[in-house]
Amino acid sequence: MELNKRQEKILEIVKDNGPITGEHIADQLHLTRATLRPDLAILTMAGYLDARPRVGYFYTGKTGAQLLTENMKKLFVKDYQSIPVVISENTSVYDAIVTMFLEDVGTLFVVDKDSLLVGVLSRKDLLRASIGKQELGALPVNIIMTRMPNITMCKKEDLLIDVAQQLIDKQIDGMPVVKEADKGFEVIGRITKTNLTKAFVALAGE
Ligand code: ADP
Repeated sequence: MELNKRQEKILEIVKDNGPITGEHIADQLHLTRATLRPDLAILTMAGYLDARPRVGYFYTGKTGAQLLTENMKKLFVKDYQSIPVVISENTSVYDAIVTMFLEDVGTLFVVDKDSLLVGVLSRKDLLRASIGKQELGALPVNIIMTRMPNITMCKKEDLLIDVAQQLIDKQIDGMPVVKEADKGFEVIGRITKTNLTKAFVALAGE
């Protein structure tokens, strides 16, 4: 987060004089308390300052990197996930390719008749099947998909940073967001590198 000139000045004053009340900061800057209120709110929310009732503001001493890490640990899957695109396990590879184009996604999730997750299909899975000699309309996706229990998945309350680490470790583009059911997992969302890119940009804008 970039601080403006006034916010930088406030930080200096609090560093040198803290704990200090809002009134006293305002006096030093020859401004009213009301004018200062938004800046103090921003500095407190961003973690540079802490406020104690009847004591005043004091400097937390946290560096930009520490604050960034703290803010990253407030980003959860549920706030950035997208709608999942699911197909049934006896869908043909041909129809899966059509679905991938129509839905404009890079990963499809495959579910069984009880709507439980059984597989994942990526672009390369479909390309690989397409360069073979098979009849794509007659080849079901469950022959070529990556199947359970080898699917990397996450829950909506997981941290986005942990999902990002898993995508890197497993070298995959995305994963299903799941909810535990009696006999497996229901797919309730999708998280991909695109969602993570959006979170990254949101973090910079904060
Ligand atoms: P692409 O094939 O377009 O490079 P990925 O890197 O996501 O896309 O997929 C690479 C391989 O990993 C594919 O075989 C795919 O089935 C598998 N895969 C993709 N996502 C997952 C996941 N969440 N869990 C397990 N395997 C996955």
